[in-house]
Amino acid sequence: MTKKVAVIGAGIAGLTIAFKLKQAGWRVSLYEASPRVGGAIRTEKKQGFLAELGPNTVLETSPKVAELIDAAGLTGEKIYANDSGQKRFIVRENKPVALPGSPIAFILTPLFGLLTKLKLIREPFIPAWDNRYEESLADFVLRRLGQEFLDYAINPFVAGVYAGDPGQLSVKHGFAKLYALEQEYGSLIKGQIKGAKKRKKSAEQSKQSARMISFKGGLGTLPEILASRLGTDLETNTKVTALSREKDKWIVQVRCDDGAEKTEHADHVIYAGPVYHLEELTLNSANVQGFSELAEIHHPPVTTLTLGFKREQVDHPLDGFGMLVPEVEQLNILGALFTSTLFPDRAPEGHVTITVFLGGVRQPDLTKLADSELIKTVMADLSSLLGIKGSPVFHLMKRWLKAIPQYNVGYGKYKAILSGLEKQHPGLHFTGNYCSGISVADTIKHASELAEALIDQAE
Ligand SMILES: Cc1cc2nc3c(=O)[nH]c(=O)nc-3n(C[C@H](O)[C@H](O)[C@H](O)COP(=O)(O)OP(=O)(O)OC[C@H]3O[C@@H](n4cnc5c(N)ncnc54)[C@H](O)[C@@H]3O)c2cc1C
Repeated sequence: MTKKVAVIGAGIAGLTIAFKLKQAGWRVSLYEASPRVGGAIRTEKKQGFLAELGPNTVLETSPKVAELIDAAGLTGEKIYANDSGQKRFIVRENKPVALPGSPIAFILTPLFGLLTKLKLIREPFIPAWDNRYEESLADFVLRRLGQEFLDYAINPFVAGVYAGDPGQLSVKHGFAKLYALEQEYGSLIKGQIKGAKKRKKSAEQSKQSARMISFKGGLGTLPEILASRLGTDLETNTKVTALSREKDKWIVQVRCDDGAEKTEHADHVIYAGPVYHLEELTLNSANVQGFSELAEIHHPPVTTLTLGFKREQVDHPLDGFGMLVPEVEQLNILGALFTSTLFPDRAPEGHVTITVFLGGVRQPDLTKLADSELIKTVMADLSSLLGIKGSPVFHLMKRWLKAIPQYNVGYGKYKAILSGLEKQHPGLHFTGNYCSGISVADTIKHASELAEALIDQAE
C-alpha cells in the first residue's frame, strides 16, 4: 500500500522532502505554521528593487541541488552569479582589500604579512590532530596556519556563513569537510589537491569551485514552485502541535489559525521545523528525552538590511561578491554583499543594492537598535568603507531573532539525541539546517537523501 507521510514545516527542508516523496507516489501532508512557505528563504520586491531577506545565494556544492531544481521544472529560471562575483573583499585597516585568487596574488597581497605566507607553505608538514579533545575552528586554524590567518581569513568567513565565532564553532561538526581533509590527507593543502579526484567521482563540489545560483525572480522562486507542485497537500497557517503513536501508525495533531483542530494518521512523520521549535511540540511517548536539550542549540540574532543607492552615490566600483569584516577591525557590520553586481535586475536602472548583515554571536545587541539608529550605524561603516555619500534611496530590513544554528564544540551530543529519538520512535525522522550543515545546499542534500532512503526502504 502507498505510504502516508506527514511533514512538519515548509522551509526548504520540508518542501524538498515532501516534493520528492510525492513524486515517488507517496501520500503527503505538509504543514506550515506560518502564512508563507520558504522559512528563512524570503524574497521581496518593492519600488523596482529585489531584496533577499534571508539567504542571497545557493552554492551548488551537491548535485542534489540541480536535481531538485530540474525536477521542479525550474532550470530555465536559474541564474548564475556574475563572474565578477568571484572577487571577494576583506576589510583591513578600514579598507576593502581583494582576497587573492591565485598563488601569485597570494604572494603579493597586502592582506597577509610574510610570516603568514610562509606558514601556508609550512602547512602540509604539520601533523594531523590526534583528537585528544574536540577542537574549535580557532584552535584548528591557529595550529595549522596562525593568528593572522585566523583574524583576516577565517574570522570574517565565519561571520559571513554562520554569523558565528570561530572560538566556539566545532571544526569537526561545523566544518566537517575541513576536518576530514586533515584527518584523511594530513593537511588542508594536500587534501585540496588529492580530494579533488574524489569529489569529481561523487559529483560534489568544494565551496571554492561550486557555482553560486539564484533565480530570475529571486531565491523565493524555489519554495514557491515546490509549494505549487504540492498543491492541496500543503496547508499553511497550520501548526503541528502533538504527535503520538498508536499500533504502527503516527497520529498527528494539528491546529489551524482559525482555532480548528484535527488529527491525521501517517506511517512516517518528518520534523523539518527549526530545532528550537521542537520544545513546543508534544511527543506523547514514554521515551521522549532531549527536546529541551535540543532547544539549547544557540541561534544568534541577525538583522539583514538591503540598501539601494543611486550609482553615483557610491565611489567603490562594487566589483565583487561583497566584503567581510574581521572582528579585529572593530566595525559594526559583519559584512555586505554587492547584490546588484551578483545578479542583474536587482535594482532599477542607474541604481545599486548592497545587503548588509549585522549582529550574530559577535554583536547581538546591535540587532536591538531602533530602525533609524540601525540604519545610521550601518551607514557609518559603509560611508567610510565604500565612499557612500548621502542617504539610501531604498531600504528593507528583516530581524531574524534566531537566525542560524551554531555547530559549537560539543554539537555531537545533539546529533546523538536526534539519532536516539529516531531509533526509539520508528517512523519519526528529522531534517533541516541543524542536521548536516546550515546552508541551503546542505539542507536540500540532507532532505533529498532522507527521502531516497525512505523510498528505498519502502520498496
Ligand atoms: C539571514 C540569513 C542568511 C542566510 N544566508 C544564507 C546564504 O546566503 N546561503 C545559504 O546557503 N544559506 C543561508 N542561510 C541559511 C539557510 O537559509 C537556512 O539554514 C535554511 O534555509 C533553513 O531551512 P530549513 O528548512 O531547515 O528551516 P526553516 O527555513 O527555518 O523552515 C522551517 C519552517 O518550519 C515551520 N514550522 C516550525 N514549527 C512548525 C510546526 N510545529 N508546525 C508547522 N510548521 C512549523 C516554520 O514556520 C518554518 O517555515 C541564511 C540564513 C539566514 C537566517
